[in-house]
This record gives sequence, structure tokens and C-alpha cells, in this order.
Amino acid sequence: MTAKTVLISGAGIGGPTLAFWLQAAGFEPTLIEHAAVLRTGGYVIDFWGLGYDIAERMGLASDIDRIGYHIREMRIVDDRGERVTGLGTKILKELTGGRFVTLGRSDMSRLLFEKIKGTTEVIFDDEIVGLQEYADCMQIQFRGAGERRFDVVIGADGLHSSVRRLVFGPQERFEKQLGYVVAAFEARGYRPRHEDVYVIYGEPGRMLGRFALHDDRTLFLFVFAADVDTADAMLDLPAQKEMLRDRFGEGKWECSGILDELDLTQDLYFDRVSQIKMKSWSKGRVALIGDAAFCVSLMAGQGSALAMTSAYVLAGELAKTAGRHELAFSNYERLLRAYIGSKQKVAERFASAFAPKTRRGLFFRNQVIKAFAIPGLARLAFGRDLIDVLQLPDYRWPAFHQPRSRLLRR
Ligand SMILES: Cc1cc2nc3c(=O)[nH]c(=O)nc-3n(C[C@H](O)[C@H](O)[C@H](O)COP(=O)(O)OP(=O)(O)OC[C@H]3O[C@@H](n4cnc5c(N)ncnc54)[C@H](O)[C@@H]3O)c2cc1C
Repeated sequence: MTAKTVLISGAGIGGPTLAFWLQAAGFEPTLIEHAAVLRTGGYVIDFWGLGYDIAERMGLASDIDRIGYHIREMRIVDDRGERVTGLGTKILKELTGGRFVTLGRSDMSRLLFEKIKGTTEVIFDDEIVGLQEYADCMQIQFRGAGERRFDVVIGADGLHSSVRRLVFGPQERFEKQLGYVVAAFEARGYRPRHEDVYVIYGEPGRMLGRFALHDDRTLFLFVFAADVDTADAMLDLPAQKEMLRDRFGEGKWECSGILDELDLTQDLYFDRVSQIKMKSWSKGRVALIGDAAFCVSLMAGQGSALAMTSAYVLAGELAKTAGRHELAFSNYERLLRAYIGSKQKVAERFASAFAPKTRRGLFFRNQVIKAFAIPGLARLAFGRDLIDVLQLPDYRWPAFHQPRSRLLRR
């Protein structure tokens, strides 16, 4: 085998998935994560399609079902909290054969991480600060843990990937902002509470949603239109809260109560809504997966599944080519590029409907959602975007046949 040792930067969704499948193929992955511990809180993700298939192959289907939520309705409400319209999830379940679940992104990340904990070297609270490529290896400088050599390096470090910045160039070169900012936080004991219903309130250019989580927690999600300058500002927590107050302070419905909860939180997810578009996802001995390579944005509702798909295919191609990284990286990209491109297009199309910027746009969006109650129309509208056209390749995973019990028994 040519490449054997693989350094993976980022223990989010794609990173642990990649470590798992690389190990199954007989490689030696090392996972490095700049946070001191796995991230908790954040937001919830809808999960279906190829990601679901991969999770199932990793032995995670029953865990996902257990900790996940089975949403019944996405409900749009007016100033007084009265239902204006809504979208039932029956059609999503039908189109995905019942393999559709919503769960905390951090819960998903933790489940994936549990699969490799104890069998993969993991370094927390450190990060790559320098990379030099040599004919036979990569020489890596870490912020804390000195220098080491690896055969290949994979950036799985998300939208603001530092591997991408260090190897391919500055973020601005690859980032396409979609004109929105997103923020999310959790609070305990909030009322009112609707189980398995995503409640959404919209005003022109702004939307605020709440979703009841396990253990009497509630997740709040803000999305608002913002020009590039606003979205670019690297704000600290007080300034982020201030910006949300500024945007939602005059809002009706439960805006004021939710902003009071916001005042109390120390754990706010806050970022611009962007995509990453690159001509190539690899350079020499370095490749990128997931959001680092091709972030589709929250508008696609499938970024986690795509991060897992890219991890699975990259590991499979490295296995198939016996570690010949150049061939593996080019196969990986050939297999996925058109598929990912189509998901990015869907997200761009959807972006304008997410938080319409005018009252007319809001009205139109609500009318469209109402129309989805007509039998067959929702299937027609969503079917093409929802169902994955890509077939997961089947690879040989030699380690599954020896330490399989060690890998799968958790
Ligand atoms: C509000 C919102 C809603 C979403 N909804 C959905 C949805 O419904 N369905 C869906 O599938 N997807 C959804 N997504 C997208 C999904 O969360 C991402 O696409 C997915 O998390 C990407 O996985 P990743 O592993 O590539 O990156 P991430 O999950 O972002 O993980 C990156 C990891 O790298 C670490 N890291 C960062 N920098 C460094 C560094 N310098 N060194 C080491 N480690 C580093 C981070 O701490 C993190 O652990 C949503 C996203 C948002 C923001």
C-alpha cells in the first residue's frame, strides 16, 4: 500500500466518518480537532438519503432512530401564533421509504465519533499550522504538538477550513455568500412547546423558528437577509446578540421572549450562509471533504449526508487504489462532482424561498406551501431534489472481516 498514514483535520461529521472507513480499509488515520471537546448544542439537521445508508452500514441506524425526532409538520404561524399554513412530513417519509429523521448535528457528530473512539488516534485542542509536501510524505506543523509526517492529509474542517486556506488559498477565493446570516441556540424550560412540530415565524427578510428538543430543551433558529459587509463582520458574542436584537427586536409573535432567552445563553451558533466552490478538491497529497470542499449550505438540508458520502467515497477510492493518492483523489472527484454541483444548485434556488425579502414574497411562499397540500403536487415539486440519483459504490473493507467485531460492536 502506498499511502498508509492519514491525518484528518476536523472531528465534525465528515472527519469521524472518514476515520471509520479508512480504518475499515486498513489505513492508519489520525484525527485532529481544534476544539478542546466535541461541540455540543448548535442546530438540528434533517438526515436521509446516502448519509442514512452510510450510517446504516456503520451500524448506527437504531441509534439515529432512538435519539432523533420524527417531525410531523413544518408550521408557519402569524403574529399571534396562529397557523397560516404548514407542510406535513408524510411526503418526505414516503419519498425516502421512511428513512428520514431529524437530529442534533452535535448528536450525530458524537455518534460517529463513538465509532472510532479508542481505535483511532485523536488529538483535541490542537490544529495544523503548516504543511510542506515532499516526494514521499507531508511534513506537518501543529500549533501545540510539534511536527510529524503523514502520507496524506485530509481537510474535514468545515466551511472555514484552515487546511483549505493553508493549501489552496484564502477563503474569499472559494466562498459564495447566499445573502443570509444564520444563528441558533438552545434554552431549557421554554414555553410554549409543540412536540415534533417545527414552528416558523416570518417577516420580510427574517425568519425565526423553534423546535422542541428532548429533556425540555428548545432550539431557536434565526435566519435573516444580510449584505456581504454585515455577514463578513467577525463579531464577538455580545455583538452577535446585539445584531439579532436589532433584526428581531421589533418582531411580533414570540420574538421578544426568545430574545430574552438569547440574553442568557453563552453558546450561540452564528455564521453567514455560504457555499464553497472550488475547481479541484485536492492538491498533491492533500484533499478536502464535506463543507471544506463544497459546502452546499443549510439551504440544501443535506450537507451532513454529503460530508459522509464524500468521506465514504474517498476512503473507498484510497482502498481501491491501494493508497495511490493521486488516482484515488481524482476518482473521488470524478464520482461526486456532478452530484454535488446539482445539490448546490438546488440550495441556491431554495435560498430565496427560505426567508423571502418582501411581504409579497412571503405571501407567495405561503401560497406555494398551501398548494403542497394538493395530493401529488408535493411529490412532483420535491421528488427530483430529494431522491439521490447517485448509487453508493461498493468497496472492499478488509478490516471488517478481521476486527469487525471491534469496529462494529459499540
Ligand atoms: C443552521 C444549519 C442547518 C443545517 N441543516 C442541515 C440539515 O438539515 N441537514 C444536513 O444534512 N445538513 C445541514 N446543515 C449542514 C451540515 O451541518 C454541514 O454540512 C455538516 O456539518 C458538514 O460536515 P463537516 O464534517 O464537513 O463539517 P463540520 O460539521 O462543520 O465539522 C468541522 C469540524 O472541524 C473542526 N475544525 C474547524 N477548524 C479546525 C481547525 N483549524 N483544525 C481542526 N479542526 C477544525 C470543527 O470544530 C468541527 O468539529 C446545516 C447547517 C446549518 C448551519
